[in-house]
Amino acid sequence: MKCPFCGSFKDQVIDSRPLDHSSTIRRRRECIDCKKRFTTYERLEESALMVVKSDDRREPFDRQKLYKGLMTACEKRPISSDALEKIVSEVEYELQEYVMEVPSRIIGDKVLEKLWEIDLVAYIRFASVYKQFGDIDTFMDELKKMKKEHVKQNNKVKI
Ligand SMILES: [Zn+2]
Repeated sequence: MKCPFCGSFKDQVIDSRPLDHSSTIRRRRECIDCKKRFTTYERLEESALMVVKSDDRREPFDRQKLYKGLMTACEKRPISSDALEKIVSEVEYELQEYVMEVPSRIIGDKVLEKLWEIDLVAYIRFASVYKQFGDIDTFMDELKKMKKEHVKQNNKVKI
């Protein structure tokens, strides 16, 4: 682990314990070169990050679910699956700053930011529905239903 004070990679762990009720490990480390101490938090696995929905329910972050939702939102848009993968990866990377929980709207906002840069139509499509639900997971679930409705209505709604 890189020392935040001197940049050395030599350290020793002096204390290591799990945070209460989570799979996050807190480690106290001491730099062997400069002797200063610092703390690191390690998650045992990616899914340890819990998404807090607008109704306060929690579920593990699911990158696959996010990817599929994006695919649906960007259907028939000139966006490659590579670009979608990139969005998901970037969002996932940025979520590392959240140790245990992240509000679902944060995820939605990050996705929107990135769609804005790539495709305005996809952005509007995503935003109009997402904002209505205020919750990305509910939105992802609703997308599937909407897709069926759209077929029924024979493209009355075009965004
Ligand atoms: Zn150091």
